[in-house]
Amino acid sequence: MMKAAVERNAGRPDRVQILGIGIDPVTMMEASARIERFIAEGVPRVVVTADASGIVAAQSDAQWRDILLGADLVTPDSAGIVWASRRVGSAIADRVSGVDLVDEICRLSAKKGHRLFFLGARPGVAEQAADRMRLHHPGANIVGTQHGYFSQDDENGIVEHIREAKPDVLFVAMGIPRQEKFIVAHLYEMAAKVSIGVGGSFDVLSGSVRRAPRLLRKLRLEWLWRLILNPRKWRKALSLPTFVWRVIISPKRPY
Ligand code: UDP
Repeated sequence: MMKAAVERNAGRPDRVQILGIGIDPVTMMEASARIERFIAEGVPRVVVTADASGIVAAQSDAQWRDILLGADLVTPDSAGIVWASRRVGSAIADRVSGVDLVDEICRLSAKKGHRLFFLGARPGVAEQAADRMRLHHPGANIVGTQHGYFSQDDENGIVEHIREAKPDVLFVAMGIPRQEKFIVAHLYEMAAKVSIGVGGSFDVLSGSVRRAPRLLRKLRLEWLWRLILNPRKWRKALSLPTFVWRVIISPKRPY
């Protein structure tokens, strides 16, 4: 599987290579257009919103690396990735974050009726996020929600529940890379046309976690805000210096 994924990635010269992982240099509009195309095509597709800590984790987790290399779309979901893209000489314009992607797909769903399923976060949070999205985008067709704290024994039942809801787009918010491993393990059983890992997005969209003030977001310091609110994130933040260091010491155009 690993070899096949590497070959697929080698066939994607349009991707910006950061520490051996290809990132699609897409804007939000381009990302949502591709997702709409995936929905129309109807073959189960995997979308990853990649951040710097995910790229670092991929250096030592072969299964996760393989998923990233084989994904149908990898969006640049962190300021670190945008910075690194400039460094390797293929500037990516801006982030395409999980939160913004969920919001945009909900907007499209309200217009076109795409069926959406929210899986992940603490009990009640996915439902709250769905309610907020229905308020923001009246008509958004969210056909099911399920929290992300289930046991192994419940997994098959949840997969079946998702399959029965027939989602066009399945958002999975259980943290990188657990959510992507879940998606790949059940991709064809769940049969969503597009499955997207969106990390802590439901916490943000439900209002459980406040988004950083606009000024901090503009200064690309949202990570600092989230760090202050959620000390659990320190471990993740600690991978940032590793990311920066590895990007700096890697050849400018390694591929
Ligand atoms: N989560 C979950 N099941 C778990 C562990 C975590 O659904 O067993 C959820 C958690 O409640 C949070 C999300 O996964 O909503 C992870 O958010 P975080 O911001 O830590 O992830 P990241 O965006 O960094 O991948």
